[in-house]
Amino acid sequence: MGFNSGLGMERSYYVATANPFASAPQLEGEARADVVVIGGGYTGLHAALNAAERGYSVALLEAGRIGWGASGRNGGQMIPGWRKGAAELVARYGKAQARRLFDLALEARALTLERIARHDIRCDLRSNGHLTAAAKPGDLSWMRTEAETLAGVMDYQQARVLSAEETRARVAAQGVHGGLLDAGGGHLHPLNYALGLADAARSAGVALYENARVVGVDAQRGVIARTETGAVKARYGVLACDALLHGLEPRIAGRIMPVANYLIATEPLQRPQDLIADQLAVSDSRFVVNYFRLSADGRLVFGGGERYTPAPPADIEAFVRRHMLRLFPQLRAARIDYAWGGLVSITMTRMPHIGRFGDLFYAHGYSGQGVLTPALVGKVLAEAMAGAAERFDVLAGLAPPEFPGGAALRAPLHVLGMLWYALRDRL
Ligand SMILES: Cc1cc2nc3c(=O)[nH]c(=O)nc-3n(C[C@H](O)[C@H](O)[C@H](O)COP(=O)(O)OP(=O)(O)OC[C@H]3O[C@@H](n4cnc5c(N)ncnc54)[C@H](O)[C@@H]3O)c2cc1C
Repeated sequence: MGFNSGLGMERSYYVATANPFASAPQLEGEARADVVVIGGGYTGLHAALNAAERGYSVALLEAGRIGWGASGRNGGQMIPGWRKGAAELVARYGKAQARRLFDLALEARALTLERIARHDIRCDLRSNGHLTAAAKPGDLSWMRTEAETLAGVMDYQQARVLSAEETRARVAAQGVHGGLLDAGGGHLHPLNYALGLADAARSAGVALYENARVVGVDAQRGVIARTETGAVKARYGVLACDALLHGLEPRIAGRIMPVANYLIATEPLQRPQDLIADQLAVSDSRFVVNYFRLSADGRLVFGGGERYTPAPPADIEAFVRRHMLRLFPQLRAARIDYAWGGLVSITMTRMPHIGRFGDLFYAHGYSGQGVLTPALVGKVLAEAMAGAAERFDVLAGLAPPEFPGGAALRAPLHVLGMLWYALRDRL
């Protein structure tokens, strides 16, 4: 089994509907480049693409298949902003810094859309909005605050609160008490977006390698990334391994925590628009979030349920279907055609962890909101290589603390915390 396969990826809806992609060779022997990127998901691909466009020679080493990490498995939901909402950003960082961060997030969205258009990436893009559905009546109060903060502090006028009735007119789900509609959101086919970025990187001159797992990185003078069959010597390096980082860089591993999350896709539905109107992307306000949208061929793609144990559920389909039927009992007879999962890397603060050890940069930990942000991160990393580190420093300033217990003990301690919040949702 390949490095980033597993958890049903081979049987995912995304692999079944992937655009043709010419696989990349393995690394053989020594190579030189200005920049070596480790990891072929959105972060690595955007970093590689931006560096190449600045005139650097770039080699990208992917341990398994390009796009088969979180980037090719996710819900495809394009949610403007950070994992923490506008009001929380203001509370944590103050108005001026919160505004700066929010503007960066809006730039991430614009860069993503611009890339898709410029490289003509066929990824079923729908940009009609993202709706957060209120799972409890009490959620409407923070949603109002959020909409006010977005308009008042961020000068962002695209979000508004919907009544229960207005929400139900858009989403035929049980237990929906209202919502926050952000017209700036949307969704896409995540794997085809990644593969399109990889093709764009290849056209920009990036040397892509697959089945090229980096087993050691030396960043003493320049950066050397070694695989079992070769090495790349470079001036700069980028670690973009997210939840699959494992032991490669122990200095940062304790800042992120991999949490497994699972999805299913139904058969194509007769009247999919009866479930979700306007091709909206939807997630709910639960701590263990349910998220769903329609695919281009009229399926419901539904994600829900997390597990804090390393072992996947024996039956992913049955595990997620339970959550889906709680919201959409009308789908009881619908066949489930696909079921798969992936690892989300979360941080203590739910803000990403971005930084550098000398000439070795790293970026990971988008905490479940990493479809849009990497377009910005890749650009900012390339800026920093070229000597303009101002925006890099802003992102590096978000650095989350280590999980209590570090890489060794974070899991058991965190499981307790997560179970508590998940339980609170149910009570
Ligand atoms: C199930 C799921 C649902 C999600 N849903 C959403 C959503 O709807 N909206 C949203 O905004 N975000 C979502 N996310 C989050 C989002 O997918 C991620 O934040 C994003 O894809 C991270 O991209 P990345 O490039 O940093 O990591 P990845 O895509 O995981 O890429 C990292 C790559 O590094 C490679 N790698 C690791 N170690 C090595 C090594 N030693 N040598 C070489 N290569 C290596 C891996 O094989 C992998 O391909 C979801 C995530 C998951 C798992």
